[in-house]
Amino acid sequence: MQGSPSDPRRMRAWLTVAVDEARISVGEGGIPIGAALIGPDGEVLGRGHNRRVQDADPSLHAETAAFRAAGRRRTYRDTTMVTTLSPCWYCSGLVRQFGISRVVIGEARTFVGGHTWLAEHGTDIVLLDDPQCVELMEHFIAANPELWMEDIGDDGEHRQR
Ligand SMILES: [Zn+2]
Repeated sequence: MQGSPSDPRRMRAWLTVAVDEARISVGEGGIPIGAALIGPDGEVLGRGHNRRVQDADPSLHAETAAFRAAGRRRTYRDTTMVTTLSPCWYCSGLVRQFGISRVVIGEARTFVGGHTWLAEHGTDIVLLDDPQCVELMEHFIAANPELWMEDIGDDGEHRQR
């Protein structure tokens, strides 16, 4: 295999695929979260972005879109989910359900999902703390607070943990 699979430059390159997806979503008037599923040799198996607004589908998160785009696989061992934002509980469940080995996260400043839980259960978590990803989310949340609360399942009465 060329280069170490945990080479930080490789992970940054994968993150650009997710960021490109997030920007596509912005262009479509959607939520700026993008993701890609990366194969054992670093190839992009599938990519996608949150489509809550575009498809009126609350189950189409960036990670699920990338996962679905990748199609069927016998095993997810040695695959990496790269996402611009800490994965929510729903997407963390997907990672654990299918045994995706690693999650590379753009940022966890604007939202913290289940990545600590994943780490506790053996998923390799890499948090890149990327300023581009933070800026995308901060800009979006400031402009669309209600849409953001809807996406993370916060109805104002309780916060999902
Ligand atoms: Zn999610």
